[in-house]
Amino acid sequence: MRDLYIQNSLSKKKEKFTPIEEGYVGMYVCGPTVYSDVHLGNVRTFVSFDVMYRFLLFLGYKVRYVRNITDVGHLLDNGEDRVSKRATLEKLEPMEIVQKYSNSFHTMMDVFNTKKPSIEPRATQHIIEQIEMVQQIMDNGYAYAKNGSVYFDTIKFHTEKKSYGHLSGRVIEDLLTETRDDLKNQSEKKHPSDFAIWMKAAPEHIMKWNSPWSVGFPGWHLECSVMSTKYLGDKFDIHGGGNDLKFPHHENEVAQNVGACNCDPANYWLHTNMLLMNGRKMSKSDGNTISPEELFSGESPHVSKGYTPMAVKFFMLQSHYSSTLDLTDGGMQASEKGYRRLMMALTTLKSLETTSDDGALDNEILSLLDEMIGHMCDDFNTPKAIASAFELVSKINSMKDSHININGLSKDALSKLKTILPQFVYDILGLQNDMDNADNDVLSGVMDLIIELRQDARTNKNWDTSDKIRDGLAKNKITIKDGKDGTSWSVS
Ligand code: AMP
Ligand code: ZN
Repeated sequence: MRDLYIQNSLSKKKEKFTPIEEGYVGMYVCGPTVYSDVHLGNVRTFVSFDVMYRFLLFLGYKVRYVRNITDVGHLLDNGEDRVSKRATLEKLEPMEIVQKYSNSFHTMMDVFNTKKPSIEPRATQHIIEQIEMVQQIMDNGYAYAKNGSVYFDTIKFHTEKKSYGHLSGRVIEDLLTETRDDLKNQSEKKHPSDFAIWMKAAPEHIMKWNSPWSVGFPGWHLECSVMSTKYLGDKFDIHGGGNDLKFPHHENEVAQNVGACNCDPANYWLHTNMLLMNGRKMSKSDGNTISPEELFSGESPHVSKGYTPMAVKFFMLQSHYSSTLDLTDGGMQASEKGYRRLMMALTTLKSLETTSDDGALDNEILSLLDEMIGHMCDDFNTPKAIASAFELVSKINSMKDSHININGLSKDALSKLKTILPQFVYDILGLQNDMDNADNDVLSGVMDLIIELRQDARTNKNWDTSDKIRDGLAKNKITIKDGKDGTSWSVS
C-alpha cells in the first residue's frame, strides 16, 4: 500500500499515516446540525471528507466512516437550541425538523455524489450513553453538578493533565475572558472556560430527558465524544471537521474523552478550511450567501448563470481542503471550462487505440499517472493531482489531434491510462459526467458543419473565410487542427 501523509492538526505537522490496525481505518467526521438546509460551506467540508474517504478506499483500506447527525444540544449564543427554535418557527415537532433537514442534507449529498458514511448516528439516539459518559467524567473528578447542570472542570483537568488547549492552541488563561457556551449560566461555573456537559432544561424547553441530575439535555460537544468512541473505540485513527469547530467543540471533545477514559481519542485530526464568497465569509446575516440551488439555477445576483453540481464540486476540489476557498463567478466559469475539458478528454480516451509496441511515450504517461496519485498521498492534494490530470488531458488531446494512432504508447501503458485516470476522476474525486449530452450532441453537430464550411472555403481558395473561422473558434477556446485524415477539433 502506498504511504499516505496527513497534516495533523494535533501535532501541527505533516505525518505519515499509520493506522492503529493495519489495513483498517476508523474515521469520525462531525456531521451537520439539522435545523436548516445545508449551505455551500457545509457542502465543501463534506465533499472534502468524502474525497479522503474515497482515497483511503482506493489505497485499499477497509474504512469505517462515522458521520453523525446533530439533532440536540447545539445551542445559539442566547442558549436556545437550534432545532427547538426552528420547530417553534415552523410549527413542527422537533423530530419533524430533524427529519426534514436530514432528508434535505442527504439529497444534497447525493446531488454532489458523495458516498454514504458507514454509520450515521444521531445524538438523540444516544442519550443513555451520554448520561453514562457524564457520570464517568464526574466519577473521575473532572466534572461537577450545579443546580441540575453538570460542568466540565477545565482548570482541574488542565492542572492534572496539562492538555486543555493542546489541539486548538488556546491558552487557558486567555479563556478566562471568553466563552461562547451557555452564557446565561456563567454564574454556575467555577471558571468561565468550564463548559456544560449536561444542561438542566427550562420548563418551556421541548427536547429534554431524565437524568440523575435533572430533566435536561446533553451538551453538543459531549455527543461527538460519545458517538465517535461508541462506534470506533476509545482510540481511533482520524477525526475531522471544519476548522471553525477546532475550538471549543473539538478541544472539548478531547477533554471529555481524556476525562472519561484517560484516552486521547484520535491519532490524526483533520480540519477543512472555510468557503468564502467574493473574498468575505459566506454569511446569511449580511446577504453574502448563495444556496446550492441558487448556484445551480443561476438565480442569484452573485452569479451570471447556473452551474451544474459537478462543475461546483470540481471548483471546490481545485483548491486544497486546508485553504480558504473564495467562490466567485469568474472562478466558477473557469472551473466549468476545466471540468468540461476533463470530461471530453475522458470520452476521447475511451476511443483511443494503439497497435504500437514502441513505448517512447510510456514513461511520460506513467510518471504523470504516478505523480497524480502521489499528490493525493501528500495530504489529499486535489489541486496538484488535478493539475497532473490536466497534463494527461493535453497528451490525450494531442494524441487524438495528431491522428498518430498513438504511436509511442504501448498497449500496456494505454490500458493503465484508461484505468487510472477515470478511477481518479470518478472513484477518488467522485465526479460524474453531468454535462448535458444534448448540448454535446448539438456542439458536435455544429462543429461538423463549421468544419465542412471551412473545407469548402479552402477548396475554393477562400483563405480569408477559412482563417476567419479558425480564429473565431480559437477565441471561443476551440482549436482545430488539419491532419492527413481530416480536420479535428478540441476544447482547450
Ligand atoms: P454545522 O451544521 O454548522 O454544525 O456545520 C457542519 C460542518 O460544516 C462543520 O464541519 C462545519 O465546520 C462546516 N462548515 C460550516 N461553515 C462552513 C464554511 N463556510 N466553509 C466550510 N465548512 C463549513
Ligand atoms: Zn462534533
